[in-house]
Amino acid sequence: MEKIKMNVPVVEMDGDEMTRILWRMIKDELILPFVELKTEYYDLGLMERDRTNDEVTHEAAEAAKRLGVAVKCATITPNVQRMSEYKLKEMWKSPNGTIRSVLDGTVFRTPIVIDCVKPVVKNWQKPITIARHAYGDVYKAVELRTDEPGTAELVFTGASGKVSRQTIQKMFGAGVIQGMHNNEKSIESFARACFNYAIEMKQDLWFSTKDTISKVYDGAFKEIFERIYENEYKERFEALGIKYFYTLIDDAVARVIRSEGGFIWACKNYDGDVMSDMVSTAFGSLAMMTSVLVSPDGKFEYEAAHGTVTRHYYRHLNGEETSTNPMATIFAWSGALRKRGEMDGLADLCSYADKLEQACFDTLNSGVMTKDLAGLAEGIEPKVVNTGEFIGAIATRLTELLGA
Ligand code: NAP
Ligand code: MG
Repeated sequence: MEKIKMNVPVVEMDGDEMTRILWRMIKDELILPFVELKTEYYDLGLMERDRTNDEVTHEAAEAAKRLGVAVKCATITPNVQRMSEYKLKEMWKSPNGTIRSVLDGTVFRTPIVIDCVKPVVKNWQKPITIARHAYGDVYKAVELRTDEPGTAELVFTGASGKVSRQTIQKMFGAGVIQGMHNNEKSIESFARACFNYAIEMKQDLWFSTKDTISKVYDGAFKEIFERIYENEYKERFEALGIKYFYTLIDDAVARVIRSEGGFIWACKNYDGDVMSDMVSTAFGSLAMMTSVLVSPDGKFEYEAAHGTVTRHYYRHLNGEETSTNPMATIFAWSGALRKRGEMDGLADLCSYADKLEQACFDTLNSGVMTKDLAGLAEGIEPKVVNTGEFIGAIATRLTELLGA
């Protein structure tokens, strides 16, 4: 078989630990035999980030901005323990945070649904995608605990010098106080990323806040979404037959549980943090969750939602066999290659990405799976395999599907 051609490279961001091992296996067995792969390679492994004073992360993010499509391996976010483990010069920031701020993006997380792993919510038939705003609110708040009575005030000093002041509460004893913010520009980017993604996926977009209680703060989110929808997206939504729908968060929760899935649910930062864990757990497993960062000007960065699977990596280093699930990392690659194919008009590349995903589904539906999924599978006799055997089985099926 002649290998599938590419024109423009995807930005390849390599990572750490067990997912770095998966990365190599996926490329060697599932991609390179079939695709004349073009990538611009950046090593975001922790040692290289340390060696380059994290320059490599910034360069990779700029490359994603320039080329439009990136695929990222999971990376270690250093903490105190990693500082000594890797003898780091500094506790480098989370690469995901750095890339997100360069691309000004919103993160969309979608479960990979398979027949033999049933969602806990039995009427969910299609995946639910959570779009989480990734800036501000309680994640950038200042807080205070007081042990005496007093007056809590909200004070804003404008650049013009104008001061506005409100009493939060006259406090009669010890208590806690919090101040948080968001920027209109960030909310607008969030809204556009959500509307663009809904168009891309041809799915309805739901958005929920608590604007009945938080009339100004959450009210601003509601108003900005509404304005951008009316001015920029309404016609395209109508042409595609998809809906934008705003509701209160408590109503949204009830509707989500009763729904059959198949839509995008946009959430404020905290809501998205909590709801994405709820949705992913109810669908099965973090190892079956894809994640894509979409910028308001249409750049895409694909990755797995899980981390570097450290526990499995230490076992791997000890020479033990692991049964690590590569699905989310494979789907990061298929997502990026399909997007590249769409942008460059390469039907063969899109079709290869479809077949790669099909090969994964066929393998799982035949009962061949990693240990994490075997524990969840129903109505099938699972055959538990190790990481290498699982990728090998997918490669065999992919070869058949491609007629190679
Ligand atoms: P993790 O890597 O997601 O793994 C937590 C546990 O979940 C694993 O020990 C394993 O459970 C299970 N698991 C996750 N992915 C799996 C897979 N593909 N196949 C099978 N089981 C899987 O989270 P962590 O251990 O908290 O974090 C490890 C490192 O990843 C940290 O250094 C963190 O900074 C980094 N991290 C990176 C990203 C990212 O780059 N996007 C995201 C999160 C965390 P069992 O051990 O029970 O089998
Ligand atoms: Mg969380």
